[in-house]
Amino acid sequence: EYDAEFFRAWMTAAASAVDREADRLTELDSAIGDADHGANLKRGFAAVAATLEKEPPATPGAVLATAGRQLISTVGGASGPLYGTLLRRAGKTLGDAPVVSRAALAEALAAGVAAVAQLGGAQVGDKTMLDALTPAAEALGTSFAAAREAAEAGALATVPLLARKGRASYLGERSRGHQDPGATSSALLIATLAEVAA
Ligand code: ADP
Ligand code: MG
Ligand code: MG
Repeated sequence: EYDAEFFRAWMTAAASAVDREADRLTELDSAIGDADHGANLKRGFAAVAATLEKEPPATPGAVLATAGRQLISTVGGASGPLYGTLLRRAGKTLGDAPVVSRAALAEALAAGVAAVAQLGGAQVGDKTMLDALTPAAEALGTSFAAAREAAEAGALATVPLLARKGRASYLGERSRGHQDPGATSSALLIATLAEVAA
């Protein structure tokens, strides 16, 4: 069972991980985008961590919903509304339970992933964050470690894909041969979750 403190620890660890990996995320985005993914997420998750520290929400659902709202209001790029929607919908799905199970989190994450797909119109195989998030949500039904492995495999599998959504899609065939920045940051967020849960 996981409480609000656990979810706050996840978001704080995510902020550190994004900060640490920002240059790598921006480098990936410079190959097939506009070289701002690291900076976008760094700004967004720093705001998330600051807000959660100042006013700690009482439930897991409220932590994720608050984090999602912060991402939407502080990240200008495509990834802000998409990650914001992921966390807000997951938070809403968790409701106001004071503690939640891994199975409940897996369901909530799957609901968040579906909301991202609806908002962005992408599906698995389009070379986006969904290529890491979709298998991760499913594998989370098994274990945190399985979710991490699925997300990392999903991110790696974007390398040969043709981008069909977002800025990378403007490159057409030239988008092949590069790992998607959003799938990479998604794998980082899921790896952070697995670390905090271990
Ligand atoms: P921007 O492209 O506006 O500069 P970012 O660089 O922060 O925003 O984020 C780019 C990432 O967002 C991509 O690598 C991809 O994973 C994700 N993305 C872009 N468009 C979509 C979409 N329609 N659906 C899902 N993910 C998307
Ligand atoms: Mg970008
Ligand atoms: Mg941008």
